[in-house]
Amino acid sequence: MAQTIQGIRGMNDVLPQEMSQWQFFERITREWLAAYGYNQIRMPIVESTHLFVRGVGEHTDIVEKEMYAFEDSLNGEKLTLRPEGTAGCVRACIEHGLLYNQTQRLWYMGPMFRHERPQKGRLRQFNQLGVEAFGFATPDLDAEMIVMLADLWPRLGLTGLQLELNSLGNTEERAAHRAELIKYLEGYVDQLDEDSRRRLYTNPLRVLDTKNPALQAMAENAPRLADFLGEESKAHFDGVKALLDDAGIAYVINPRLVRGLDYYNRTVFEWTTTELGAQGTVAAGGRYDGLVEQLGGKPCPAVGFAMGIERLMLLLEAQKIVAPSTVPDVYVVSQGDAAARYAFTAARQMRDQGFNVIYHAGGGSFKSQFKKADQSGARFAVIVGEGEMQSQTVNIKVLTGERQGEQQTVAQDQLAGVMSSLK
Ligand code: ATP
Ligand code: MG
Repeated sequence: MAQTIQGIRGMNDVLPQEMSQWQFFERITREWLAAYGYNQIRMPIVESTHLFVRGVGEHTDIVEKEMYAFEDSLNGEKLTLRPEGTAGCVRACIEHGLLYNQTQRLWYMGPMFRHERPQKGRLRQFNQLGVEAFGFATPDLDAEMIVMLADLWPRLGLTGLQLELNSLGNTEERAAHRAELIKYLEGYVDQLDEDSRRRLYTNPLRVLDTKNPALQAMAENAPRLADFLGEESKAHFDGVKALLDDAGIAYVINPRLVRGLDYYNRTVFEWTTTELGAQGTVAAGGRYDGLVEQLGGKPCPAVGFAMGIERLMLLLEAQKIVAPSTVPDVYVVSQGDAAARYAFTAARQMRDQGFNVIYHAGGGSFKSQFKKADQSGARFAVIVGEGEMQSQTVNIKVLTGERQGEQQTVAQDQLAGVMSSLK
């Protein structure tokens, strides 16, 4: 026998028995996105590497060490499996003129790729639901995104998620803060790990995002961006908070919430859970007013977030939320070649009438066919033998529920009505 070939580490199969949970999530989120007027967009999985270097930022974890980048073997073009969706979404919007004199509320769902160390809730291929809005400069849109998520949790049946909020101000405010922060961090240079030392001058905000407990106090006492915010940035943040207050949504201001990507300004937020260990952020985002221009478009304000769907799945499991799995209505069994032909046609007719029908393929004894019928979870078995075929009838047996075991013979053209009444 040939040696088996394994899937790639950190790139999981979603197996049939997990699918009902995914479909539940997709169904609920589609309804939810429609309720807020968001339209779907689909971008390719492969983009030019430059897009992410410029869009996500040269000194981010993603670009520094997480990208699946490669050269096209035909023309040497530098390509990357998308590590996130925002850059590609902005590229598509610019390329197709979607931001010209109009606003957009968009969403997408699909796989993202990051070369990280795989662990629970952290994969190399994972799925995100991304939501982006373009052309809105006012705090109501920041608030809408956050409120939307608050509204999603109960739709999914989830409880206990927390909202963290911060404001990163504008470019000048960040520059002023950054200069002070570098000065402060230079005082601790001996205690910083290699990553942090490297980031000190490239991305000092990220140094504060340290998970090293020994550096927590240092990070706590660092100069705060909040103290550098000007009137406009403050007013914007107040505007967001006022709408959240009106909506009755609780939040914690986390001055150290800076997000991993370079493009954010003003509002940033994360929805977190304590039920998934270190991988506790289920959705994260914020405002990124500079990105469209940075990627070659006309200046255009923007807000967005992305949700990690695998983490959502783990959270549904942790909270014991189980979506009903779909079972077929009917499993068709038959005996003998001629009866099998008749049954094959009967199955097609039942599908035309709107039933989900599994036709038992491959023959075998009635006993083994019934076993399959039971395993399928189908509500009814439709049974065709020589006698039924002769009389143009079928025998219907209830397989599950209160009327389990009831059995009757009906004319083929009355089958649909009988099944509906038995349901
Ligand atoms: P983290 O701090 O956990 O690495 P991040 O800041 O890199 O997250 P984002 O780029 O903001 O994450 O992506 C948005 C969401 O996508 C995250 O909040 C998380 O739910 C999910 N996510 C990110 N990376 C992964 C991954 N490697 N595996 C599974 N989900 C992920
Ligand atoms: Mg990350």
